[in-house]
Amino acid sequence: MIYLDACATTKPYEEVLRSFMTVNEQYYANPNSPHKFASTVQTLIEASEEQFTSHFQTEHAYIYTSGATESNNIALLGVARRKKQFGQTIVASPIEHPSILNPLKQLEKEGFNILWMNVDQYGCVDIDSFSNLMSTDVILVTCMAINNIVGSIQPIKALGEMLQHYPKAHFHVDMTQAVGKMDLNMFELSKVDSFSFSAHKFHGIKGIGGLAIMNDNQLQPIQYGGQQQTTIKSGTINVPAIVSMAKALNESSKLKINRYNEFIQQKDGIHRYIQKNMPKIKLNSDIEHTVPHVINLSFKGVTGEVIVNALNEYDIYVSTTSACHSKHQSLNETLSHMNMSVEEIKGSIRISFDDILSNETLDELLKALREIYKSVEEVMN
Ligand code: PMP
Repeated sequence: MIYLDACATTKPYEEVLRSFMTVNEQYYANPNSPHKFASTVQTLIEASEEQFTSHFQTEHAYIYTSGATESNNIALLGVARRKKQFGQTIVASPIEHPSILNPLKQLEKEGFNILWMNVDQYGCVDIDSFSNLMSTDVILVTCMAINNIVGSIQPIKALGEMLQHYPKAHFHVDMTQAVGKMDLNMFELSKVDSFSFSAHKFHGIKGIGGLAIMNDNQLQPIQYGGQQQTTIKSGTINVPAIVSMAKALNESSKLKINRYNEFIQQKDGIHRYIQKNMPKIKLNSDIEHTVPHVINLSFKGVTGEVIVNALNEYDIYVSTTSACHSKHQSLNETLSHMNMSVEEIKGSIRISFDDILSNETLDELLKALREIYKSVEEVMN
């Protein structure tokens, strides 16, 4: 099997599963209980927190959630509702994941005014349009770091710098497709008020993630309970999952950051091969503006589903636009904002990598793509 759908999820590392099992077996006390066993378990959370702090190199505190969807909801709904008295305007990127776009729709129903940044042909938000939208009425700005459809790198550092002039505006960044995959220094997270991530995108287990937050007074809770973590997040703390997430982050980032340049070379090689041998395919993930572990391409005149199904026959697994969207019929927002035609959007597939491919695997992928291309070339535009 050749699994090339790492943006949807990754396989947990063995040591991650082992640490999850060990904590479940040996450190199962509720960390909020008053006894010594509970204190031991509490130290495991603290050790994990130290690992997050050392990885992200910022002063954020962490709220542990079921994943980025929950983190994004807590951040957007929480900040907007808390800050409503100071302003009603939110500035957002329009190519966000549904776990950002749908809370924004909810906030719109509650009376907030959402202003959308422009997006260029590479899938990057436009800084000038951002600065034109900013005013002292803005209480929240949200923009992802890495887009999950084409892998475009967003100008988080520049946005953070501009937002220093608007101290009332909370800056939230969805870091889901960046964490554990690349050096995060380029984003300057110290200027970001909150950011979200999910462990299963970096070889952790599913159902655990985090919201890093500078000041949780900026949030109104969206759920109520025993306040086990803070007033913002209630429920018995999932210690085994948190410990295993810290393990996953260490292991994944160690491997991927060191090999980032190799990922770039691999992507470049695949792009060149496609340009030479499959000239009717449109490449949607420009090398300069996107991360190397994501390749999005369009078979114009053929649907992405046809290509995904054809690759299934070779035991190769890729995605259409994204697993989160593929059950819905509407055209993908990211590709639409990149001014692609309906045919290009419908014909797009996403290949996403969690490791450098061996020469053998790379050959298998390119051979399969070429054979499929030959079989549909006549109907392509
Ligand atoms: N944001 C982005 C950019 C994503 O790619 C995803 C997952 N596809 C999420 C948020 C949501 O993550 P989860 O499903 O783990 O909550």
